[in-house]
Amino acid sequence: MKYVGAHVSAAGGVENAPLNAHKIGAKAFALFTKNQRQWTAKPLSEKSIKRFRENCEQYGFKPFQILPHDSYLINLGHPQKEALEKSRAAFLEEMQRCEQLGLDRLNFHPGSHLNRTDEETCLKTMAESVNLALEKTRSVTAVIENTAGQGTNLGYSFEQIRFIIDNIQDKERVGVCIDTAHAYSAGYDLKTTSGYEKTFEDFEKIIGFKLLKGMHINDSRKDFASRVDRHDMIGEGTLGKDVFVRIMNDQRFDNIPVILETPDPDKWSEEIAFLYGSVK
Ligand SMILES: [Zn+2]
Ligand SMILES: [Zn+2]
Repeated sequence: MKYVGAHVSAAGGVENAPLNAHKIGAKAFALFTKNQRQWTAKPLSEKSIKRFRENCEQYGFKPFQILPHDSYLINLGHPQKEALEKSRAAFLEEMQRCEQLGLDRLNFHPGSHLNRTDEETCLKTMAESVNLALEKTRSVTAVIENTAGQGTNLGYSFEQIRFIIDNIQDKERVGVCIDTAHAYSAGYDLKTTSGYEKTFEDFEKIIGFKLLKGMHINDSRKDFASRVDRHDMIGEGTLGKDVFVRIMNDQRFDNIPVILETPDPDKWSEEIAFLYGSVK
């Protein structure tokens, strides 16, 4: 079974996210549990938590259909001590918010070395950041998202993600989310049939589908291997729609949240309908 949805707005409170997802015909959704461009947030209120859980129940969203995303400010591989500590504290807080909401996974970007440290040290720092957060929480899986490799962002290759995972102690609570636009920009040629097959064979070998806890399905505005992260609407970018039809007909992507982060929220219901309509 495919669970397709979008990264919906939680404006006015997290409890609005399941409503917004339901309105567009989504069977999955992503959300920010706090403002993604600010460091601090008010704690979630009891009322908000209760309503979030009620709305999820009412519209049929179970935890495995929901993929919260952490703040863009967090850099778990930050080369400077103070900034790293700030990121780690914010990440832990996000994990705890997920726990309060009864959610079982948190999707995050690994981080960047900022040209101040080498890649290996940075990847180890990221893993240590995850270790610290996992030690202080119990029920949330840390889900590493592949990046486009823009700037000094790491996590753009399956090998780098594997290296982070190898340095995480609790293997039961680590997962991966693949963003199609990021993968294509990073040099994984998902566009052709052979490229698609090769990419996911490599994924299985290096990381393993067992660890796949979500997908971000976005077309890309930038060229193959451009290392630039710009999403486009399904079928309107450099990837084209075939890869998304393939994903919809590929059982390896069953039973996880498959999330649109395409730029026009007004078209999400059409995109979701197109994707479900493409199942053969
Ligand atoms: Zn992301
Ligand atoms: Zn992106």
